[in-house]
Amino acid sequence: MPSANDLAFSTPIEKIIEVLEADTKTGLSAEQIQQKISAYGYNRIDTKKEGSLLLIFLRQFLNVMVYLLAFAATVSFFFEEWMDGIAILVVILVNAVIGFFMEWQAKRSMDALKKMVTIPAKVFRNGRLTEIPSEEVVPGDILFIEAGDMIAADARIVDDRQLQVDESALTGESLPVEKQAGVLKERVPLAERTNMVYKGTFATKGNGHALVVGTGMKTELGAIATLVESAEQSATPLERKLEEFSKKLIWITVALVVIIFIVGIINGHPIFIMLETAIALAVAAIPEGLPIVSTLALASGMMKLARHNVIVKKLAAVETLGGTNIICTDKTGTLTQNRIEVNTICALDGTFEITGNGTAPIALPADVSSRQSFKLLQRIAVLCNTAVYQEKDGKTHEVGDPLETGLLKFVHLTGGNIVSIRTEYPKVHEKAFNSETKVMGTLHKNREAYWAAAKGATEELITHCTHAFRTGQVIALSHEDKKEWLRKADDLAKSGLRVLAFSYREIVEEEKEFMHDLVLVGLIGFLDPARADVPQAVAECRSAGIRVVMITGDHPFTARNIAHKLGITGENDAATVNGANMHDYDLLTKDERKLWISSSVFARVSPKQKLDLVTVLQDDNNIVGMTGDGVNDAPALKKADIGIAMGLRGTQVAQEVADMILKDDSFSSIVKAIRQGRIIFENIQKFVMYLLSCNMSELFVVSVAAVLNLHFQLVPLQILFINIATDVLPALALGVSSGNDIVMKQMPRNPKEPIMDNRHWRAMITYSTVITLFVIGAVFVSHYTIPNTEAQDKLLCNNILFFTLIYSQLFHVFNMTFGWVSPFRSEVVRNKYVWYALAACAAISYLAYSVSPINTALDVQPMSWISWGLVLGASMGSLITIQLLKRLKIIL
Ligand code: ATP
Repeated sequence: MPSANDLAFSTPIEKIIEVLEADTKTGLSAEQIQQKISAYGYNRIDTKKEGSLLLIFLRQFLNVMVYLLAFAATVSFFFEEWMDGIAILVVILVNAVIGFFMEWQAKRSMDALKKMVTIPAKVFRNGRLTEIPSEEVVPGDILFIEAGDMIAADARIVDDRQLQVDESALTGESLPVEKQAGVLKERVPLAERTNMVYKGTFATKGNGHALVVGTGMKTELGAIATLVESAEQSATPLERKLEEFSKKLIWITVALVVIIFIVGIINGHPIFIMLETAIALAVAAIPEGLPIVSTLALASGMMKLARHNVIVKKLAAVETLGGTNIICTDKTGTLTQNRIEVNTICALDGTFEITGNGTAPIALPADVSSRQSFKLLQRIAVLCNTAVYQEKDGKTHEVGDPLETGLLKFVHLTGGNIVSIRTEYPKVHEKAFNSETKVMGTLHKNREAYWAAAKGATEELITHCTHAFRTGQVIALSHEDKKEWLRKADDLAKSGLRVLAFSYREIVEEEKEFMHDLVLVGLIGFLDPARADVPQAVAECRSAGIRVVMITGDHPFTARNIAHKLGITGENDAATVNGANMHDYDLLTKDERKLWISSSVFARVSPKQKLDLVTVLQDDNNIVGMTGDGVNDAPALKKADIGIAMGLRGTQVAQEVADMILKDDSFSSIVKAIRQGRIIFENIQKFVMYLLSCNMSELFVVSVAAVLNLHFQLVPLQILFINIATDVLPALALGVSSGNDIVMKQMPRNPKEPIMDNRHWRAMITYSTVITLFVIGAVFVSHYTIPNTEAQDKLLCNNILFFTLIYSQLFHVFNMTFGWVSPFRSEVVRNKYVWYALAACAAISYLAYSVSPINTALDVQPMSWISWGLVLGASMGSLITIQLLKRLKIIL
């Protein structure tokens, strides 16, 4: 097989076609594709299998907590405390299993998400242009590449129209390279192989066809795949914050544990018991699992979003979403439906509106359909157009820009014949549309002469026009006439239509630069209805303290009209900013900056200006989400705190650099994602609070008993049991809560704030103190009211201490709302996972109570109903007290 390595750039293309049995006209047949997939495999880069299941499991044993426990087990065996030693080993194993499942689940979610971000490729197969998953591209396929596409495989250029490719990913060269068909000398370095395109690079301009010569690992990218692998996802800021936070807590815990150990020894307790207690306490109190639980919460949030058509590519983005306070969104397709239909035609011989249902032939008045201006408009619409529109057996096949497919559909429904127009006027040159120039032009051969067709934004195209067309005549276009045309375009735009101007020129000799002296034929106004769910989503943003800013390449009047309809602007909002008047970032005055920061509509904006706007908004300390679809939007998407690409409309490059992809292109999905981002952050805060307050209460109880030298104390295995049996499941359940109604009624969080602020710390210390008081109180009540022998009393006191701590912690999960929330509205009460977790924990505690040898290992004896009443009463007491303190707004 000729691959990139096999000098595909220096072999005549006919030879490669022959070897690969390719056909540049029709592409491969279904049968050939099957054969080639078996022969060459799928077009993917095999990344190393990071973390097999066994590795993930083994990794669980490599942490401080396990080392401490292993030390404790060794000490137990040394003192011949076999039961303790074995029980600690069981604890190590259970911990590893829990850690394994959490990490495995997080990995599965991440893998599933990775699969969703596959980029399609456009190929000719069976004589037709189709989109296929890029994994299915095989050598011999004919790729169609246009600006914005990621290149799916290594391929030799067959034909090109100003095709330029950014190869920086492979060569490090940041300037786009022009690509052309042809054959090159042998031994040309990669960066100079202008007749080849390579997998993983992307087209920035123009379009062309290319014959695939290498796929998967047999590509230049495959050869350097190890480099790509090393670019792994790093920890998110939140994970890093949690890690730092855990580390700080470790030192505080260690200090406390050392004090308890010393006090215990001074009070005459055996060294072995105190050592075990200290280790158990350290293990219980160190919040080891925080980073992985947060990863799990983030990953589960990402899966939820994926079900709502939002693919979040980086975990960190979920966090940033919660703090976003400005969404810069484009209009077409995001706020509107992108069902672009011709609505009004305006020529010098009259203006008329099109009515039709979008599928049936449109009946035009006879005098309109026979007008020459109309026929010219139809021809320009078909020729100056790269889209495909076919109707077969009542089904339509559309590929390309919706505005262009809308035009083709219009021509088709008004009786024009797309195929015969294109056959009669074959294309020889193309000036591709881009959002900087806002115009597009094509040059066609017509018998012995040439015909240029052009369309674009009125104020841009008109600068290329010198004449206009009126009832069969070409008349000169004066300055005043131009003004009149611009006024007409403004009028159409004011009613919310997207307006394009159309022009042509008859040419005798072939010209490469043909966009001059054009004859203006008319304007077409397109209707693109607003999405029905947007006004509500905009209102939701407003109440959530998020400003919505519309940035569009469209006409200022069109933009203004739609922004107003959607509630993005009010009567008194700052004026629409017109891209034509926007200075470069470095030249901005203070007043201009102010205007940019306060405006909600930006029209005729170029991608470079989008980038400047993001920078100005970020300079003003905003967290900016920015949508984009074009290849030129990539810098702005990268610069924004959250780059949002469109799944349907977006170019592959935009999707590649974005943090988030909207599969349905809909604005409401962004709002859903922000809501989810906020919920996830709150969930993480809640489980951190829950875990820490539980740990702290264990620490407090053991410290109080040790420092006051009380006649009861938790035994080490009990501490470990509480840590595994009661904290983990409710904390996990809190991590997947579906949130409350007020999450979108609060102002965005300041991302610089710590996860836990002073209010949280105050609350946590109060929670732990209340739980400690009730737990120790229950023991004293038992001690003074239930008559017993000294030995039995000691045992009972210990058991009451143990179970009251377990149940207080379980009930404590209901305190995990910020501020007091009625139990009927509390999201914790409504969270079914909390109930499952509680049921599981109650069952585990029952096992500890009644099943031998677990109860023997835990020193647990049967208790009377009175004792159980005391346990549950005290646990409820701590819950009610904390609820009361919350209700009185004394704590959070
Ligand atoms: P939005 O940000 O709302 O999505 P947009 O991305 O559609 O706006 P552009 O695609 O940059 O904006 O289009 C800007 C202008 O260029 C349009 O208002 C229109 O006048 C013109 N235009 C758009 N598409 C084409 C096209 N295919 N051919 C020629 N001109 C076009």
